Amino acid sequence: KKVADRYLKREVLGEGTYGVVYKAIDTKSGQTVAIKKIRLGKHSDGVNFTALREIKILKELKDPNIIELIDAFPHKGNLHLVFEFMESDLEAVIRDRNIVLSPADVKSYLQMTLKGLAYCHKKWVLHRDMKPNNLLIGADGQLKLADFGLARLFGSPDRKFTHQVFARWYRAPELLFGTKQYGAGVDVWAAACIFAELLLRRPLLQGSSDIDQLGKIFATFGTPKPSQWPDMIYLPDYVEYQYVSAPPLRSLFPMASDDALDLLSKMFTYDPKSRITVQQALEHRYFSSIPAPTKPSSLPRPA
Ligand code: ADP
Repeated sequence: KKVADRYLKREVLGEGTYGVVYKAIDTKSGQTVAIKKIRLGKHSDGVNFTALREIKILKELKDPNIIELIDAFPHKGNLHLVFEFMESDLEAVIRDRNIVLSPADVKSYLQMTLKGLAYCHKKWVLHRDMKPNNLLIGADGQLKLADFGLARLFGSPDRKFTHQVFARWYRAPELLFGTKQYGAGVDVWAAACIFAELLLRRPLLQGSSDIDQLGKIFATFGTPKPSQWPDMIYLPDYVEYQYVSAPPLRSLFPMASDDALDLLSKMFTYDPKSRITVQQALEHRYFSSIPAPTKPSSLPRPA
């Protein structure tokens, strides 16, 4: 049975934040695709105009490090988004104990992540939900960002508890303080968490609640001083914290190069206005100093 007269449905790949994802064959191109079925809330009758306009923007995002949205259509009251099929994701790579990640491999994964982000930020699209399992890896080893813009498009209404936990670990301090005017900096903070996770092979900031998440951030980087982040005190959920000093970042990443550590600390800057931008991060010494990033086809992958 064909969906939309074009896609042959295969097995279910998993249950995501927004609904079921299944594998399918695109009979038009012969390509294997992943179709994300998005449950539209019972309060919205069908797909609204704003969503369609936003989807049009997502369809126009074309970059080697962004997963392509091939098609989007409503079907039986659900919105179906068709993406290119990807073999694996960065979470699987980080978790696989049989995989050794060299400094050049880490550099390659971070560079591909930042290149995908840079492309979208240039077009004023934020990701807002960066985490290792949203960074998909193709058969050719290329890393591609998935779920671009979906967080803003669909919010997180029936987000399951488990999903929220994982997303929380990548959340920027301004989001945890309830800011409503966040910008591209939230993706930089999340990318920094992913960079740290590539180096450590475990998530750096594993908060068990939003408050605990802030506590983990403060314990790692020290409480932000008002001089470091002047706008902090005006944020909706700001509360005064007891002063904590930061251990040297070096002690947490004993094996990282000086360049890696310098870039990491610039990405983990408290004030989103002072935080390094994705473009500046790509121009950082870390990417021009040796070792050169591993080429995608030579990266280690899960068996
Ligand atoms: P989450 O909301 O937790 O990020 P997703 O909705 O992105 O989850 O995905 C749910 C499942 O579908 C996951 O197991 C993921 O690996 C798989 N999946 C999502 N997109 C693709 C894709 N383009 N190719 C292959 N598998 C995918």
